[in-house]
Formats: sequence, C-alpha cells, structure tokens
Amino acid sequence: MDILNLKARELAEGYRNRDFSVEEVTKEYFKNIKEKNGEINAYISLNEENALKEAKEVDEKFRNREELSKIAGIPISIKDNIAVKDLKMTCASKILENFVSPYDAEVVRKIKANDGIILGKVNLDEFAMGASTKTSYFGVTKNPLNTKLVSGGSSGGSAASVAGNMAAISLGTDTGGSVRQPSSFCGTVGMKPTYGTVSRFGVSSMANTFDQVGVIGKDVEDMQSLLSIIEGRDEKDATSVGNESLKDNFDFNNAENSLKGIKVAIPKIYLDMNLDKDIKGEFNKAIDILLENGAIVEEFNIESLKYVIETYHILVNGEIASNLARFDSVIYGHRAENFSNIEEMYRKSRREGFGNEVKRRIMIGTHILSLDLAEDYYYKALKVRGIIKRDMENMFKDYDLMLCPTYPVYPFEINREMSAVEIYAGDLFTIPANMAGCPSISIPMPKKENGLSVGMEFTAKRFKDRELINAAHAFERSLR
Ligand code: GLN
Repeated sequence: MDILNLKARELAEGYRNRDFSVEEVTKEYFKNIKEKNGEINAYISLNEENALKEAKEVDEKFRNREELSKIAGIPISIKDNIAVKDLKMTCASKILENFVSPYDAEVVRKIKANDGIILGKVNLDEFAMGASTKTSYFGVTKNPLNTKLVSGGSSGGSAASVAGNMAAISLGTDTGGSVRQPSSFCGTVGMKPTYGTVSRFGVSSMANTFDQVGVIGKDVEDMQSLLSIIEGRDEKDATSVGNESLKDNFDFNNAENSLKGIKVAIPKIYLDMNLDKDIKGEFNKAIDILLENGAIVEEFNIESLKYVIETYHILVNGEIASNLARFDSVIYGHRAENFSNIEEMYRKSRREGFGNEVKRRIMIGTHILSLDLAEDYYYKALKVRGIIKRDMENMFKDYDLMLCPTYPVYPFEINREMSAVEIYAGDLFTIPANMAGCPSISIPMPKKENGLSVGMEFTAKRFKDRELINAAHAFERSLR
C-alpha cells in the first residue's frame, strides 16, 4: 500500500484500524516533500518539527480511543497568505520575506483544534495576484502532472502539493478563481464556498469583498471533510456568517446525491465562444453525462457575463490599492536601507518590496479611485457588479447549477511569455462566482492522453453549498 496515494478518509480509517500511525504518515509526507519540492517548488516553508510533535500527540489520542474529528492526523498544507502562528507568512512577496506571524488565522485555529497536521506553507502568486504562481517572489510552482507547465494560480502551491502527494488536503484562497483554476490545472477538486462561509480573520486581504478561503482535495469527499471544519461565523470577521448545513452529516452514498431532475443552466455566451477544441470537447462530454444521469440542461441568456473581466479588475484593483497600503515598513516587513526622510522610506521600501504585478495593480487601483475618475470607473463598475449579481440571482430562481469549463485553455508552458491582459482574460469563467458571492467548485474530468485533465466548474446560488457539493459528488461518481 502506498500511503501517499490514500485519500484523507482512507488515512482516517487506517488510523482507526491501527494500520499505520499519524507519525508514520507524517514522516512519509515529509520524505516525499524533500524528494520532490526541489523540482516542484510547492512549499515556501516547512513545519516539520511541530508537525511531528503534533502527530505523536494525535497518535496518543487515537490510542486512547478519543472521539476525533474527520481531519485528525490528516496532513494539510496552507497557502502562504494565511497566518500560522510562529511560521513565516510571506504572501510570496519580498516585502514579507522575513515576517513571522504572531497569531493563527481562524481557519488555522480550527484545523489545530481538530487535530489536523499542518505540514507547512505553500506558494502562491505574490499577494494572490496572478494565475500561474509566476508572480511569486519565490519562483514558479511546477505542475506535478507535467513539470514543463505551470501549476496555475494563485493557489498553485496548494493544488501542486495535493496533486504531487505532498499534502492530503490544502487551504487556498479564491478572489477570482485562485482555488478552482489551479485545481483544474493539476487535476484536483477545488471549491470556493459562498462569500461569508469561512472567516477571513488572519487571511491577507487582496480584495476583501471578493476573497474567500477555499479547499483543494483529491476528490469531493476529501475537500468537504476540511470545508466542514473551517466553516463558521466568527466574531473576528464581521463579514462571516457560516453555514451550518456544511457540518458533517453528508452521506455520500445516499440518493440525496443523484443528478436526477437537477436543473443546469449553461450561459449562451459560453456556448457561442471559440473555445480550445479539447476544452469544448470535455464541456460537451460533461453535458452528456449530466443528461444521461437525468439532469435537465438548458441554455440561458445572461449577457452581463460579457463584462466580468473589466469589472473585476476595476473593483479588485481599487480594493488592492487600499488593502496593500498597510505595508508601509514601519512596524514589520522589508525596509529599505538608505533614506533621508519618512516619505522616502515608504517609497523605497515599497519599490524594493513589491513585484511588478502588485505594483501594476496598486497603481491602476489608485488611479481609478482618484477623485475625478472614481465616478467614471469605480462607481460604474460597482453598478455593473450589481447587474451581474442580479442576473445570476435571477438565473438561480430557475436553475440549481450553472456549468462551464473552469478555464478556457490547458495549463500553459512555464516559459511562455504572456501579457497581463492575456492572463487576465482566462479568468472569465471563474470570476462570476466571486462577483455574486456564490459557491463554485471545479471537478476534474478523466485524464486525457496528455496526462492532463480539464476542470468542469459548477456554480450554485448563495448558501446552496451543500446542494452544490452533493451534485458535484454525484457528477464525480458518474465519471468513474
Ligand atoms: N487570477 C485572478 C487574478 O489574478 C484571480 C486571483 C485570485 O483569485 N486570488 O486576479
């Protein structure tokens, strides 16, 4: 038996049956990380000593037959924009290269309280801005399915750690697709829950009205096991509400999960698009599978989805410019060496500390928020967001799910030069869920001859996360 190939729930069962110990499994994971990370570059920092200590403690609890949570002893990686006490939290930026978090994010507190084993912090695009991890100060994360390709982003380290058996499950963040797109690139399942389901306390803000913590796993069931733990209203995040229905009484073998009678909408503009041949082929296959299993699939006209990319970048950059203003190098973070006054200290430190993509977004954000432009850009974009939200809500009056591919193309080659605009354009399918705060999941289609699989994205109405997970699980089962 190869321990590293086991799903999280199989690990949990193995612990209960004493087939292996948490310590053995944790050691096995670190061994694999050490063999592979030099090439893949998924991890920025490791938590080895603590993880082994905790593993022994959890073994003790298993020996004492304590009632333990589903994630007890499960090896988990954490995106490096989520705070873990006493570990570095770099956000993949030079400005935080040596920053050690003095506290745990709420999601991390919950993982620890449920005896999950945190293996370390994983790579991302700098401050989660990007779709490839190529904007990381620590270099790109390679795709374990084919190391010439990017792992996707921004949670590329999360997806690669799961795909490369360097973690059983991972936490990422999703502002415009960052959990789902790398999942699609690496053949994993990734879900962004409804905005507000999970506390953002201790999660570095990129665009706070879009950001949500999500989970990446080998399959839907593994993904759900961690999502059910991190869900919840948190006093420390006023935008959090939680979702009780995600708690652990899922019965994945029950007919509750059937696709029969489920109404699926496909936006007409997606069908009319000139998609990559393979991606379109998989999209059609997914539609056939839904129909074969008794779902009702219909075209739906939702014109406003045409404007998601432009609207997203105006709003998100505005939020980025204000959120990243806190990195002033006064109390923490990189500080330039020579300066003659405080103005110059700010300027030089930020110039040295931020990479190009972050600077570009701060500059655009500052520009469009400036007095005479805010009316033309920012407030207009807010209105368009309102329209997109309304149109999606209308769609979900008649439909349970919206379906499309997660990303319009296969993962790109690491060496391929791409303009910012070309990269931004790829997010057209993932952004709508963040615009409207909806839950959205990427499910890998079966692997193709090239060793890659195409992700299919299902999106549901706000707070219908449970229904979304059940339908996604039924879809996943029908692929086997
Ligand atoms: N690729 C998108 C962007 O660059 C999404 C990023 C994210 O979800 N964090 O903005």
